Amino acid sequence: MSCTRRLLFLASIVAMTVACGARDGAAPPPPSSTPSPAAVAEITVEPTGPAIQWQHEWAPGAVFYQVFVRSFQDSDGDGIGDLAGVIERLDYLNDGDPATDSDLGIDGIWLMPVFESPSYHGYDVIDYESIDRDYGSNGDFTRLCDEARRRGIRVIIDFVVNHTGAGHPWFTASAKGDARYRDWYVWRQGNPGWRRPWGNGDATWHNSPEPTQDFYYGIFWGGMPDLNFRNREVRDTIKRLGSLWLARGADGYRLDATRYLIANGDGNGQADQPETHAYLREFSAHIRGEKPGALLVGENWTTTANIAPYYGSTARVRGGDELPASFNFPLADAIVSAAQNGNAKAILDVLAEMKRLYPEGVLDAPFLRNHDQIRLATELGNDPGKLRLAAAILLTMPGMPFVYYGEEIGLQNGGTGSADELKRTPMPWTGAPGGGFSTAAPWYPFAPGQAHTNVAAQTGDPDSLLRHYRDLIRMRKRSEAMREGAIEPIPLTSPGALAFIRKGPSQRVLVVHNLEPGEQRIGPLAVSIDESKPLGKPRVRLDDQSSPARGPRVWLTVPGHGSAVFELAQ
Ligand code: CA
Repeated sequence: MSCTRRLLFLASIVAMTVACGARDGAAPPPPSSTPSPAAVAEITVEPTGPAIQWQHEWAPGAVFYQVFVRSFQDSDGDGIGDLAGVIERLDYLNDGDPATDSDLGIDGIWLMPVFESPSYHGYDVIDYESIDRDYGSNGDFTRLCDEARRRGIRVIIDFVVNHTGAGHPWFTASAKGDARYRDWYVWRQGNPGWRRPWGNGDATWHNSPEPTQDFYYGIFWGGMPDLNFRNREVRDTIKRLGSLWLARGADGYRLDATRYLIANGDGNGQADQPETHAYLREFSAHIRGEKPGALLVGENWTTTANIAPYYGSTARVRGGDELPASFNFPLADAIVSAAQNGNAKAILDVLAEMKRLYPEGVLDAPFLRNHDQIRLATELGNDPGKLRLAAAILLTMPGMPFVYYGEEIGLQNGGTGSADELKRTPMPWTGAPGGGFSTAAPWYPFAPGQAHTNVAAQTGDPDSLLRHYRDLIRMRKRSEAMREGAIEPIPLTSPGALAFIRKGPSQRVLVVHNLEPGEQRIGPLAVSIDESKPLGKPRVRLDDQSSPARGPRVWLTVPGHGSAVFELAQ
């Protein structure tokens, strides 16, 4: 058997384990109002003239880190995380020096809601122009953006505009019948009786706080009345606010509950409506005009088929004239279930759907879990192998992976139960009482396992999950194919393995993941690998059965829950 084994070693990675959990969502948002023909006509006006293009050369391959400010770092001893605290921890995320490997090396952060709000979570905003007093000042925000930029970190912020908090002065005035604001929310005389399109179908119309017979619309709950996006003043105000925070330093927005902006009827009539797509195109054009390098990422918690249309037209605007990225909820579930049950089929199915339904060349925003879901470590039973595997799969996917704070150290849920706070507990930097998070008692208790699940304990440990994340991100950034290449799955007979090629303009990379807990011989792969190059940490063995007639047929022996990445000969 002749061997053609030419390949460059790129990097390799290894493995893990775990258990699972249920998703309990907290949150998505929605809708609005009574359609009038005139209003619909107004909102479906398309932008005219030459389209301004996105400048997203920086985006493909970028790794984002989701931060819940309240739980990341307290700088002033009140037990509550704040923006100054985030600044203190920027070097942990990316110290700005590519030569060091003691940082995570991420390229961007998503700050969960930072505007003034009466709640701990901030998804019910009462002042869109001010940073929440618990988190600091508007000046702190700009300072954070400046400090982040110096390190090559972009800052995107949660923009929650489907609804406001019921305590927002706009709603207070609207409820009182103030003509200036009445139409900023969605009112009806009598209760239309609509039910939410998800969960247990809670009512979406609520009694007015004023002594009237009127009802207002709020898809999440009565404390979050939906803004009326059929109202031009509302739409223009939201665009103005979009400009405001870009001017203050933000690099874009994570858009909350994007599929629920405008509602037309009961149940599914509250999601993915044509008027919602039209408004998002309008907002997108506005943001592109303000800052073409800015990013918009939509929270469209739905199927691949429903997410795909949110890119809009790529013929008019490269990358999409609507949302240039949306979180990939189906892929998140597929990766987590694959890590859980050792079967790659779910991932392959989603990748095939994306290839069929997503416009060519658009950005994806894959992730594993977010603030509305049970923590990954808990879902995977704190199995180190499965956690390492899930991370490796995520960080070898195309697009812009998002890592939820604490995921990189295996932070588990704060306890059993479905309370959202349990998914958002303070970051354990050390095993000490304040956890390095605060000199005071944290606003919420640390999750179980803090003694070993903390940054200090894992720093310097070559076998830690944290080291694994750092290595994966570094490997990703150093590879053109990994950053911007397309993905082409390689059919395998074993459902317990996942193999694909990432194909960039001038580099091809082979990625192989062993989804099973035991060592597995994976192949045959019709690729050429250079055996003379070291394969790195993973104890991967190559077994080549190439022949002149059949071409290369490589087999890789990969340890349980291990992964391997090789650069292929061109
Ligand atoms: Ca504080």
